[in-house]
Parts: sequence; structure tokens; C-alpha cells
Amino acid sequence: TYIVNDSCIACKYTDCVEVCPVDCFYEGENMLVIHPDECIDCGVCEPECPADAIRPDTEPEMEKWVKFNRKYSEMW
Ligand code: SF4
Repeated sequence: TYIVNDSCIACKYTDCVEVCPVDCFYEGENMLVIHPDECIDCGVCEPECPADAIRPDTEPEMEKWVKFNRKYSEMW
């Protein structure tokens, strides 16, 4: 699963949303989030992000963002 971190805040690009084959990006309060159960781990969005905000959830520094992505994507 890929996760969005705070580098996304105030980013106006939605290149990631456009390339995602399963439409699992959702709007958070001031950034996008990925629904962790819907993401199929294809990795297509990662290089599209100009802010380098999309990282695999296996990276240690992404741990705190996993709950955040789940919380905001499940609000929809
Ligand atoms: Fe969508 Fe693939 Fe990115 Fe997951 S890794 S959010 S399925 S584009």
C-alpha cells in the first residue's frame, strides 16, 4: 500500500489522482490521502508526485501517516 505524507499539503497538482487505476485517492482537509484497502500497490502514482509525498507504507517514517490516510479516506 502507498500512503501520502504531509509533503502533499497545499500541493495543487493532481497527477497522482489521474493515473491511479482504482481511484483510491480522497480529499483530506488540506491534502490528498490514499485509501489503504483500495490501493492495489501498483506504484504508478509515486513517480507522478511532484512533491515526493507518496511513499510505500513499509518505510519507517511513513508509519505515522498510515492511520491518517485511513481516517480521512474512510470519511467518504
Ligand atoms: Fe493508486 Fe497504484 Fe498509487 Fe495505489 S499505488 S494509490 S493503486 S496509483
